[in-house]
Amino acid sequence: MQSDPFITDFTPEIGVAVEIAAGLRRLTAPNASAMTFRGTNTYLLGEVDIAVIDPGPDHPAHLQAILGAVGAARKISHVFVTHSHVDHSPLARQLADMADAPVLALGDSWTGRSALMKRLSETAQLGGGEGVDADFKPDICLHEGEVISAREWSLGAITTPGHFSNHLCFDWIEAHALFSGDHVMSWATTLVSPPDGDLTAFMNSLEKLQKRTADQRYFPGHGAPLEDPHHMLAHQHAHRKSRESQILAALEDGAATPLALTGRIYTEIPEALIPMAARNVFAHLIDLVERNMARPLGPLSPEASFHLSGKTP
Ligand SMILES: [Zn+2]
Repeated sequence: MQSDPFITDFTPEIGVAVEIAAGLRRLTAPNASAMTFRGTNTYLLGEVDIAVIDPGPDHPAHLQAILGAVGAARKISHVFVTHSHVDHSPLARQLADMADAPVLALGDSWTGRSALMKRLSETAQLGGGEGVDADFKPDICLHEGEVISAREWSLGAITTPGHFSNHLCFDWIEAHALFSGDHVMSWATTLVSPPDGDLTAFMNSLEKLQKRTADQRYFPGHGAPLEDPHHMLAHQHAHRKSRESQILAALEDGAATPLALTGRIYTEIPEALIPMAARNVFAHLIDLVERNMARPLGPLSPEASFHLSGKTP
C-alpha cells in the first residue's frame, strides 16, 4: 500500500466563499464535529446560473452566507444534493424556494436501498438511522448517467450507494472533476451504518469510481480537495479489505459482538468514536454473513455475537 493519503491540515474560514477552481467556490458551514471534520462543504458552481451542491445543515448563518456569496446580481438555478444526511440536505428546500430553483437528487431517504438492506430492515433490528433527513424530497429525481447542463457547466449523476443509499457523486464534465460527497473524502474514511449504509454497495461504488480513470480531482463533502483521487480510492479499497481480514482473524479466537471486535481492532481512534466504528464493523459482518463467511448466534442485530461460518461457536 502507498503512503497514507489523508489530508488533515485543512482550516477553511467558516462562512467565507473561496474560489478553489475556475468557476467554483467553496463555502464551509459552521457545523464542525468529530463526524463532519471542519464542517460541511457547500459548493457554488458557475458565475451566472449558480448550481449549489450540498446546501448543508439547517443553520441560519449558513443560509445567509450562501445568499451573500450568490449576491443580488446572480441567481441560483439548481440545488443539487449528494445524499440526505442532516449535514448536507436540510437547507435545500428553503434555498430552492427562495431562488425558485429545483432540488435535484436521487430521491428521498429510502431511495436506492439495496434488496439486502430492504429485507434486513424489515426482518432484523439493525439500529442505525443516524443523521437521516427524513423529510427530504427532491423536485427532480436523477438517474444514473443523467446530465444536467446550464450555460457554464454540466453535471452528470453517478449513483454511489454505500455511505447512504441515495448517495450520488456529480461529474463536473468540463473540469474532469467529481463532487464526491461523503463517499470518498480527503480527511477520513466514511461511516457505513446499516441499513442506510451498505458495505457491499460501498465496495462496488469504490470500484465503480476506480474505473473512471479520467477523473482528475475530487471535491468532497468535508475536507480539502483530493488532487490524486485514484491513490485515495486504492488506499480506501485496501483499507476496507484489511479491516475485513482483521475481523476474520479476530473471529478465529471465538464468537464476538461488533463492539467487542471494534475494541480489539480499532486501537488508533479516540474512545468517543468507538460506537460509530462499531457500526462499520457491523456493516462488515453483514457483508460477511451474505458471503457465507460469518454467522450471527441467534437473530442478526448489532448486539449479536458473530462466529466464522465453518466453526462451531
Ligand atoms: Zn453523510
